Amino acid sequence: MKYHTFCIVAGSLACNARCAWCVAGMTPKNQVSDAKAPEIDVDSFQRACRIAEMNNLDTARITSKGEPTIFPEQVTQYLQLLQPWRFPFIEMQTNGILIAKRKPVTDEHLRTWRKLGLTHMCISVVSSDPERNRLNYTPREKQYIDLRKLIDDLHAFGFNVRMTLIMQRGDVDSPESLKQFMAFCRTHRVEQITALPVNKPTASRDGKLYDAAVKAALSDEQLREIHAFADKHGAVIATLPWGAKIYDIGGQNLCLSSCLTVSPDANESRQLIFLPPGRITTDWQYEGAVIYDLPKAAQKVIKI
Ligand code: SF4
Repeated sequence: MKYHTFCIVAGSLACNARCAWCVAGMTPKNQVSDAKAPEIDVDSFQRACRIAEMNNLDTARITSKGEPTIFPEQVTQYLQLLQPWRFPFIEMQTNGILIAKRKPVTDEHLRTWRKLGLTHMCISVVSSDPERNRLNYTPREKQYIDLRKLIDDLHAFGFNVRMTLIMQRGDVDSPESLKQFMAFCRTHRVEQITALPVNKPTASRDGKLYDAAVKAALSDEQLREIHAFADKHGAVIATLPWGAKIYDIGGQNLCLSSCLTVSPDANESRQLIFLPPGRITTDWQYEGAVIYDLPKAAQKVIKI
């Protein structure tokens, strides 16, 4: 089996944001606990790293079924465990809010993470407009974070910044709104943008989230227009096996990703996923996609 991305799940199901269509809340829990971060079985984790190495993967991606930065010590632990594998790129997917607030993430964490090889911070947003992001991520708070300052800070600590733009109806849902978002990124020297539409699995464990995802989803026509804009104005840098395309548009890197999470080739899987303590799987939405699971009775864990 061939894999294209190596995803490492940090933290628990806990998240400080409240996206109405949270995809993590729709897919199976996959044994991730509600509040406490599960401990990591080192042997199982090394096994997953070895599979990634055998697939010549250049990137390890720390992500979560909630928000990884709620558990900064576990992020540090993963980065320490990744050291011997020497991945050229290690990225973390985050909503960025707790980094901007420096609580519980501190300057010291950011320095340590950079030193341990974290290269890319991938910040989820729905817009460059603070009020639109507030309404989506932190509707109960008066203010959303200062995104410009967060980008500048992350650059100052030595990270590349990728904006993970979730395209939803009413925010970025047309070539014009995508152009505006790209202009914001260009001004703030954001190295990369990955734009993907609000997504939903085939079956959801939460009906309310699913309904919100259906409501926020872009129409086929809107998606066609966005892709046509990128094809017309961009130079294609790469086409990824699951259909995503990377463009240069006026000097800005843009990856337009589709909803597809399953590789069209039967012998390929888009992702290799490690979930602590010791589960290795190949799909977010099908719990049966497990290729290895540390039996409960044999769980030998390390403390963080
Ligand atoms: S930031 Fe991510 S995990 Fe948190 S609510 Fe939004 S989609 Fe879900």
